[in-house]
Amino acid sequence: MSPVSQERETQVIDAAPKQLYINGQWRDARDGRVLEVHDPSTGKVLCTVANASPEDGWDALKAAQAAQGDFAAMPPRQRANILMRAFELMHERKDDLALLMTLEMGKPLTDAAGEVVYAAEFFRHFAEEATRISGGYQDAPAGNARFLIRKEPVGPSLLITPWNFPLAMGTRKIGPAIAAGCTSVLKPAELTPLSMLALAKILEDAGAPEGVVNILVTSTSGKVMEPLIRSGIARKLSFTGSTPVGKKLLEQCADKVLRTSMELGGNAAFVVFEDADLDKAVDGAMQAKMRNSGEACTAANRIFVHRSVLQEFSEKLAQRMAELKVGRGVDDGVQVGPMVDASQRDKVKELVDDAVGAGADVVVGGEPAAGEGFFYPPTVLRNVPRQARMWTEEIFGPVAPLTPFDTEAEVLELVNDTEYGLVNYVYTNDLTRALRVAEGIESGMVGLNQGVVSNPAAPFGGVKESGLGREGGDTGIDEFLETKYIGIAM
Ligand code: NAD
Repeated sequence: MSPVSQERETQVIDAAPKQLYINGQWRDARDGRVLEVHDPSTGKVLCTVANASPEDGWDALKAAQAAQGDFAAMPPRQRANILMRAFELMHERKDDLALLMTLEMGKPLTDAAGEVVYAAEFFRHFAEEATRISGGYQDAPAGNARFLIRKEPVGPSLLITPWNFPLAMGTRKIGPAIAAGCTSVLKPAELTPLSMLALAKILEDAGAPEGVVNILVTSTSGKVMEPLIRSGIARKLSFTGSTPVGKKLLEQCADKVLRTSMELGGNAAFVVFEDADLDKAVDGAMQAKMRNSGEACTAANRIFVHRSVLQEFSEKLAQRMAELKVGRGVDDGVQVGPMVDASQRDKVKELVDDAVGAGADVVVGGEPAAGEGFFYPPTVLRNVPRQARMWTEEIFGPVAPLTPFDTEAEVLELVNDTEYGLVNYVYTNDLTRALRVAEGIESGMVGLNQGVVSNPAAPFGGVKESGLGREGGDTGIDEFLETKYIGIAM
């Protein structure tokens, strides 16, 4: 890919929508406030966007409430057509969407283009699901009645998304909401609002009726969202973000007994048994660790390698990590971008320093780069001890911590030694062991001899403190549907 000119960067930023999208209208915040969007590769301001106040929040929720009845009555095929058209438009505008995402979030352009395709796929998947919502008709056991089972939209939904996958985390919620017939108010992360505003334009162009999707960008998330969560108007909260914020929101949801879907933090283990194909395991570790420069809930956070192959595995992994090209995501051949902001970069540094202080060896990397932007180099640490903070805290950066193990029973205990349970990865060529370990692992997802599990057609989600519910797959739409039972006397 050729380097992107400054002129093209400016053109894409200038063309991006920068207002709130409420009730089918683009408008400024009622109090006129704006917030700055930064380029993490330089730290410089890219532009400003409207910064919603609580009053704007109410406008958005009331628009969603007003649109709910008609939207629930819209034929499923028409709802599916909106999603299919939006899917096509995302592909048509892929280059601009990818560049916008790279500029506001930092990820390399090829990764951003990959995310646009992944994100669009949720729209196609749920377009297909929209016309397959089924119910039931059955006899009561006593024979004196019939049960009619109907699926209905939950109602106006609040959707909150993080900055690390600025488009895909949105389409993963908006797709099933539209398919099920729910209107929504989506609040993207304040660090990366441009991608979601561009998506709102796509939904508008795809024919989403006014009020069906509303986008609120705000720097005061709690003040804007809490009243909406507690309003009694919203019937659902679907949240993707950190576990501490998720817990706080669950408490708020209890007030009006909102339906919730919670996609929270992870602490994935990546296990390499002595019988694994080591080259494939290194490939898998590179994907599980370095997808999104390590800023992923699915990122391998603890890499357990059988002691007999630790030396060979760590040398191969260190070589691959050292070869990665770090730089501005728009530059030619760059594979690792900056961290999203200074605090994320500083947190990665703190966790590495802590692990080294606790006895870990640095194989490669280990020191943040000087100069502008929030860069942290690909890093491999060996012999990371259990007391290191990164054993229990999400690193969210390009750091691969290796720890040896000796037995299957020992490693299973290590894998499950966390309050998280999103995903874990296992590499072995022994099928029985693979299934035994996969069944013993406490997580919503397991990658067997593969380093990426995300797929719009598969149920994504976690157990324990990694969340509630599943997104994608054939159950993702259920998160936005209620079951109504109509009893009929015979
Ligand atoms: P975060 O929890 O800080 O923020 C997530 C979203 O919640 C943002 O939009 C933020 O503005 C908003 N928010 C924060 N406080 C709020 C409040 N009081 N009320 C309402 N909204 C509030 O998380 P982040 O730093 O943006 O994202 C990283 C986290 O997301 C990591 O923990 C990562 O594991 C998790 N994540 C999980 C998944 C998954 O599918 N399980 C996917 C991606 C990211």
